Amino acid sequence: MTTPDMIDPEVWEHRREVLLSPTPIVGTLDLTADDILALLAEPAQLLGSASERVRFRGGITCTCVAESLPFVEQVMLDEGLIKSNLDVYQLGYRVGGTAASGGTHDRGGCTDCGQYSDRQIECWRDLGWTMQKRYVPPFDAYHAHGWPNGCPHLSAAGRGQATQWANHTNGLVSRARIQGKWPIPKWDAAMKQKEQDMALSDSDIEKVANLVVEKVFAADAIPNVTAEGVPIFTSNAKNPTVTIPTALDRTGRKLNALQAAVDALQAAATPDAPAAP
Ligand SMILES: [Zn+2]
Ligand SMILES: [Zn+2]
Repeated sequence: MTTPDMIDPEVWEHRREVLLSPTPIVGTLDLTADDILALLAEPAQLLGSASERVRFRGGITCTCVAESLPFVEQVMLDEGLIKSNLDVYQLGYRVGGTAASGGTHDRGGCTDCGQYSDRQIECWRDLGWTMQKRYVPPFDAYHAHGWPNGCPHLSAAGRGQATQWANHTNGLVSRARIQGKWPIPKWDAAMKQKEQDMALSDSDIEKVANLVVEKVFAADAIPNVTAEGVPIFTSNAKNPTVTIPTALDRTGRKLNALQAAVDALQAAATPDAPAAP
């Protein structure tokens, strides 16, 4: 059966519009009986306020997730924890969406992702997410479940889990202890802190610039031979590179020799000053 999370929400909304339209819309939809049942089972309205809800990656979530999740994704990319993107399995505002989630995804905050290795969970926590690994069973797929710590858009069930989080318990029936880093910062504070940590100070930039200059001058990195094998700075064609000081020294000598030759030419070409009348 087609469910709302399997197709593009815009398409889904259009189908709903067609289905619920009081006058038949001449159209192009091929709804199956199962599609219609799924549409009728959809919640009549979304929880929370319109201003907290954001269309995001094929679903709906709250402003906190929409702001924080792409940041987490960029950090995981930078740190080599993922290759291209986070795998989002479930977002929010899905009343009745997944029975196993127990209503935690009815409103905002709660997010399921495929990134649940120990190091990935650590990264989520560093950036203020309460992500925990969820196992099979009772869930259909291994995933990380959690929300941005401090998100005010949680459903009633989500708030229950937040209370459990504050008590260092895992939010499941088992009420087991949370594995890994705890407590964690609020998501927005964590994001600001990480941005500051990543930013280079002026003195850092100065140091880097000085190091580059030092390295360039120390490096044996100027090609001495053209593509045709003609030596440029030294006559030894077996010397494929020369140091920059050598290159500058040789270039200076050649320029001096050229200047002397030009001076000599000019002296030869300039007629003697006319004799005083
Ligand atoms: Zn979940
Ligand atoms: Zn939120």
